[in-house]
Amino acid sequence: MVESYKAWFQCASGCDERYELNQIVYSCQKCGGLLEVRHDMDRLKQKEPGYWTKLFGKRYMRTEWPYGSGVWGKKELVCPNIKNENIVSLYEGGSNLFWAQRFGEDIGLKDLWIKQCGNAHTGSFKDLGMTVLVSMVKQMISEGKGILGVACASTGDTSAALAAYCAAAGIPAIVFLPKNKVSTSQLVQPLANNALTLSIDADFDGCMKLVREVCQKNNIYLANSMNSLRIEGQKTVSIEITQQFNWEVPDVVVVPGGNLGNVTAIGLGFLMMKELGIVDRLPRLVCVQAQRANPLYRSYLENFREYRPIQAQKTLASAIQIGDPVSIHKATKILKIFDGVVEQATEDELANAAARADRSGLFNCPHTGVALAGLIKLTKEGTIRPGDRVVLISTAHGLKFPEFKIGYHAGALDGVESRYINRPLEVAADYETIRTAIFEAIERGCYNLQPSQDKDLP
Ligand SMILES: *Cc1c(COP(=O)(O)O)cnc(C)c1O
Ligand SMILES: [Zn+2]
Repeated sequence: MVESYKAWFQCASGCDERYELNQIVYSCQKCGGLLEVRHDMDRLKQKEPGYWTKLFGKRYMRTEWPYGSGVWGKKELVCPNIKNENIVSLYEGGSNLFWAQRFGEDIGLKDLWIKQCGNAHTGSFKDLGMTVLVSMVKQMISEGKGILGVACASTGDTSAALAAYCAAAGIPAIVFLPKNKVSTSQLVQPLANNALTLSIDADFDGCMKLVREVCQKNNIYLANSMNSLRIEGQKTVSIEITQQFNWEVPDVVVVPGGNLGNVTAIGLGFLMMKELGIVDRLPRLVCVQAQRANPLYRSYLENFREYRPIQAQKTLASAIQIGDPVSIHKATKILKIFDGVVEQATEDELANAAARADRSGLFNCPHTGVALAGLIKLTKEGTIRPGDRVVLISTAHGLKFPEFKIGYHAGALDGVESRYINRPLEVAADYETIRTAIFEAIERGCYNLQPSQDKDLP
């Protein structure tokens, strides 16, 4: 029985205060510390590892509600307290684990896999956490908690996920977006799902302060990643990857980092599996930041001895343009346990890495580009070895960022030299002209992964 397992919020700042998961509380009321979700591990450990792997295998990608979802298929390890009737699921998880054979060979890796978390209902991994949070809100509403709506500040993807899950549940959603700083698709998503969409003249950090105040003073629930319910859902990425490899742990996991909830969640997922005996080792974790928003990278250079928030600069990787990550301390703790490495990527590096990988059949968002650029550097310098089994987390679908793709292939991105440019060729409606164009392109070697020979780059 799922119901006999239990989880709760616990203060992570040392005072160990506990709260129920259906309490409206975002930080410790005694000391102000961040809250984490803790599970009754002794109860979970009463089962053999084989019990879990068999159970998860039986449920994976099937239609037995709600267990076919990649998140709810692991309900006991995620959030056992929610009644199935309150679960708001859009069949999240179960995403493609893509063997990047051709791209891997190109950069010197034999066993490179891309976990396509962007192949998701709203096009990013944010669905994995949002299903848990919105389900808990539905449960609280059913218990008469008087919640009027759910709000978040967002660099785009969180608001899209919140809007979709709230719409599916019939709960009002309010999204705070930094004006002119999200892509067209990211703006269209909450509009289409009928969320109240506030376009605010501030950056993400500014929107964050405002939404906190609104939620603190009113009966509106806060959906930001300081809300550790989301981390519980995102944790299933590591469980799912391991499951897809028949319960073998990869050597290295690479992920882009902004607010640092995802790298934290991935670490927690592996730790939980290890504690339950499902796996016996941990992978190395690599977190890559945009150079223009790199507070974690700076702290890493000083062995995490110090952390200073920065003013994030405008970057193509808009979802990680964050100067003061909410989960900085949790992420630092995780990275220390996982022999973690932090890298950074310039605008030029992230855009070209994304385009280079696209040439092998992928279709990457700029944040995945950041991770890919970090991967290329770490492979070149030998930190990641040719035989390592590497899983790179792709965080969003490339289709969410058409401006980025179009700009790249028009050679129009600031600070980027488009080395893998591919422009449409305008040809006359005439057989001979078209045939000549095709043969010239094949001769020029347009289909290698190498940079174009295109001479008139910007
Ligand atoms: C949210 C997001 C990130 C950053 O994840 P964090 O948990 O904030 O580090 C990266 N890529 C995409 C596409 C995102 O939506
Ligand atoms: Zn406390």
